[in-house]
Amino acid sequence: MIEFLLSLFTEKKCFGCRQPGHFFCPKCNFDLELYKPYCYVCKKYSENFIVHKDCQSHFPLHQVIVLTRYRNTGIKKLLRHGKYYNKYKWYQDIIPTHKDFFDTFITQNNSLLAPVPMHFLRRWKRWYNQSEKIAQNLSKFCEIPVNNKFLKRIRSTKQQSHLTQSERIHNLDNAFKLCEQWIDKNAIIYLVDDVVSTGSTIWEIGRYLQKNWYKNIRAVVLASD
Ligand SMILES: [Zn+2]
Ligand SMILES: [Zn+2]
Repeated sequence: MIEFLLSLFTEKKCFGCRQPGHFFCPKCNFDLELYKPYCYVCKKYSENFIVHKDCQSHFPLHQVIVLTRYRNTGIKKLLRHGKYYNKYKWYQDIIPTHKDFFDTFITQNNSLLAPVPMHFLRRWKRWYNQSEKIAQNLSKFCEIPVNNKFLKRIRSTKQQSHLTQSERIHNLDNAFKLCEQWIDKNAIIYLVDDVVSTGSTIWEIGRYLQKNWYKNIRAVVLASD
């Protein structure tokens, strides 16, 4: 709360270079190293971030689009803090600037943006789900509808990155529920999230959607390792 009140009075400063006026300034956006298309599973080149056919045999998503690397200090700070205290407006300093990047790789036809859901208790604590805010920003220029009710997180889970390898395996079991069964099974479902680290969340949702006969599951995220 104190941090939120302070944020109302503090001056906007770029997380990259500390210049005032922006949270992520045009120069830092210009210098940002964008990912070249690659396959999320084997990390080798793949056109349009499509997961190779062979790699899809043990990964349920067809495409994982990643804007940039999480290790960029400015982005790391922006994403880490953007989750709290109504600071979601910060995303406006990066997403629209990279419109061309997203436009190149995102398919518009028969698509849907499905933010990775947050458990209602966590959402209540944080006031909003950052993935929904990112999806809304993307939707403005991609012209793809956002569906916040498509998926629900029915169990509060620990953050995957805080767990050991063995704890991770069952942490997300039965954590998600499909709430809108009527959506076309051939539609392209883009899961939207801020960061993908272990990939287990998108993997778990992807596998669950596959079991429910969805054929084209993809993801678009702002940063990865
Ligand atoms: Zn800057
Ligand atoms: Zn691959």
